[in-house]
Amino acid sequence: MTQLFKNYLWHSELFNCQSNDLTQFEQYLSTQVSRLKLQEKPLGFIDESNQHYPLSLYQTAHIDSGKPSILVCAGFHGEESAGPWGLISALEQLNPSILEKINLSILPLVNPSGFSIGNRLNLFQQNPNRGFVHQSGQVVSNSHTSVEGLILQQSMTQLLSAAQHGILTCHEDVLLHDTYLYALESHALPRPLSYQLRDCLGRYFPIADDGEIDECPVKDGIIFNHFDSSFESALFQSGSQIAFCTETPGQQVFDQRVLANRDAITLFINHFVNDNCQ
Ligand SMILES: [Zn+2]
Repeated sequence: MTQLFKNYLWHSELFNCQSNDLTQFEQYLSTQVSRLKLQEKPLGFIDESNQHYPLSLYQTAHIDSGKPSILVCAGFHGEESAGPWGLISALEQLNPSILEKINLSILPLVNPSGFSIGNRLNLFQQNPNRGFVHQSGQVVSNSHTSVEGLILQQSMTQLLSAAQHGILTCHEDVLLHDTYLYALESHALPRPLSYQLRDCLGRYFPIADDGEIDECPVKDGIIFNHFDSSFESALFQSGSQIAFCTETPGQQVFDQRVLANRDAITLFINHFVNDNCQ
């Protein structure tokens, strides 16, 4: 099949492997899943003749409805690999005692087939972050929904519960030198957490100038309350209290992007640990 997008690969000094090394990634993930006693919840498989990729959600062992439930996702787009590696890095420094205060769920790598070759799309040339259509209180598919999207939509009740108090999804913009984020909030203006996440990324990279990115207005490094058929938008419209999509710049050094993602994820988790959620 002809590829619609270029493959992007980088070397990571931090992990001593290539950004698309799926075997290494799974080993690092497995180590953290064991250390933090996360439970794997298999959601489905992405299959084609000689390729077979599991898609799993991982959750803290004991879900307590009295604690904040948050979901951290990465790897929807396979070339945006500093997201998944940043999540590994955040898990490595996470103190297990934090998981006594929140219900943490993670989708560490939504598009493993794209990740394995550093391509945005999956092995069927589909975009895994499109085709989540919020309609009459439900998330339904359309002609753009990917295999991964269908798997996630089959588990939407579970994912919505996991993301009840918030969702952070870690993306990258491979064409840019600057950073920005999408924030979805039920307020007229961004709340402090949006600016804190922006500043977290801004410690590593210049913050995007005011203007437009992908036809969305950016102000102070934030694209605010932009609704599309992305996973995060559908979850927010379905009841998640707050949703963020961070965008680290693919034109910058890979490991710096990993560290920026690590810090953003850590800040997001700590926000709920500190019981600031409404
Ligand atoms: Zn993306």
